[in-house]
Amino acid sequence: MSDLPYPTRQNYWNGRPQPSSSTAFQTIDPSTAKPLADVHTASHADIDAAIASAASAFPSWSTTPPTQRARILLAAVALLRARNDELARVETHDTGKPFSETSTVDVVTGTDVLEYFAHLVAGGGLNGETTQLRPDAWVYTRKEALGVCVGIGAWNYPLQIALWKAAPCLAAGNCMVYKPSEVTPLHGMLLAQVFSEAGLPDGVFNIVNGGGEVGAYLTAHPSVAKVSFTGQVATGQKVAASAAGGMKYVTMELGGKSPLLVLEDCEVENAVDGAMMANFFSTGQVCTNGTRVFVPEGMKERFEKKLLEKMEYIRAGDVMDHNTNFGPLVGKVHYEKVMGYIKHGVEADKAKLLYGGPEKPVFPDGTAEALKQGFWVRPTIFTDCTDDMRIVREEIFGPVMTILTYKTVEEAIERANDTSLGLAAGIFTRDLNLAHTVVAQLQAGITWINSWGESPAEMSVGGWKQSGVGVENGRRGIEAWVRNKSTLVDMSGSVASVFSKL
Ligand code: NDP
Repeated sequence: MSDLPYPTRQNYWNGRPQPSSSTAFQTIDPSTAKPLADVHTASHADIDAAIASAASAFPSWSTTPPTQRARILLAAVALLRARNDELARVETHDTGKPFSETSTVDVVTGTDVLEYFAHLVAGGGLNGETTQLRPDAWVYTRKEALGVCVGIGAWNYPLQIALWKAAPCLAAGNCMVYKPSEVTPLHGMLLAQVFSEAGLPDGVFNIVNGGGEVGAYLTAHPSVAKVSFTGQVATGQKVAASAAGGMKYVTMELGGKSPLLVLEDCEVENAVDGAMMANFFSTGQVCTNGTRVFVPEGMKERFEKKLLEKMEYIRAGDVMDHNTNFGPLVGKVHYEKVMGYIKHGVEADKAKLLYGGPEKPVFPDGTAEALKQGFWVRPTIFTDCTDDMRIVREEIFGPVMTILTYKTVEEAIERANDTSLGLAAGIFTRDLNLAHTVVAQLQAGITWINSWGESPAEMSVGGWKQSGVGVENGRRGIEAWVRNKSTLVDMSGSVASVFSKL
């Protein structure tokens, strides 16, 4: 019996936790670097068993009427909402994100998507189309479930990402084997248990834990019909290549280096709030972060003054304290990566440090000792940046804002698009005609006008260019989990044939 704060996490298939025949690893609390729980790694035999469990559940689940599937998913919604704070606490300990954030965003936005897709399929969202060809012939289409689908998640929104994948997958009648990131695996078994408690048949949702090798085995597995992946571009390339070997369907939600355009006529305070949300929420560990902030030359001073005033509202500290709104980075490896970029910005890029830097953040009295070993960095702002700097070109995935000035809007658009990534983009202006004109020219799949970061269930989101393939959420989100079958019906009694007697 371990004396860690959380019980051991096992893999989960056939509707129950399954002890692994393989090894275990530990997950840590990033705010203190202390271990939280042992987690069983899935062996190849375990993964095969989880996939077999999903495959045996598929015939019955895929033919369960959508309204009945929806009823079960809505029961899970009620359980998740009732356990919001308990699940948020788990997410806070596993990711280091403050409880003030996980209790109001992570569980809420994941659950909203489950509710959305349950209602969508109950309301006819899986209906096909009928096309009358002639009086005695027509075509109808059906949206059919794919089969066993794999979900592979990143560590920044563990429960939310799992739900964003499971919700449309299950609602459409598929079964899922989900692999959480090994950095933040605590939620996986809990979510599977919630689904079982809600009445989901055994095998419809399964969890396998482990690192990249578990993911690689899943993506190459011959019984898998689709892979939905969230993570880095480089990993996404490997996953897509592996899935292509079996002609599997894929959805790829990858990284970004998104531009935020501040226009001369905007409400400066609103734009500053947007830029702060786009860089420091979740300690900058958000895929859609607007890390390249383009500001008109003439506004730079005003913008930075207001920004510096507001930076004082960022509060690092005990992650369970309701007043804390800034947590540590997720772990040691990521800490070293982000810190490497901050140092590179100062030493090699020679960008001007406006705020923060490589030193540890200052904590309120009484918390400093416990947090000393944690993976904390200071929110950091570089200004007078140029497009060729590494901190401007590469995804850092930490709380590092870069400010770039521009002369004309046309120039800002061109520079904003000068990247191989295309996840998100946004603009702050009071001129709505101009806003729409500019948004139409930005090369990104997710865009905001006078806002940043909100991603409701109704909004389809997905990256352009190297940032991804396909979308999640919204009405279009369900299409990624079904395949089309077209049927032509002819009632004329005579097949149009070329093989007639001369
Ligand atoms: P990674 O690409 O490192 O990992 C993502 C997942 O892939 C993890 O579960 C990982 O396992 C697994 N994995 C690693 N190697 C393989 C492989 N060869 N085959 C299959 N699976 C594999 O991403 P991070 O976890 O570091 O997440 C951060 C990234 O995710 C950022 O780039 C961010 O922008 C992006 N992201 C994109 C989002 C979007 O919607 N576009 C949303 C959130 C994040 P393990 O970690 O256990 O080793």
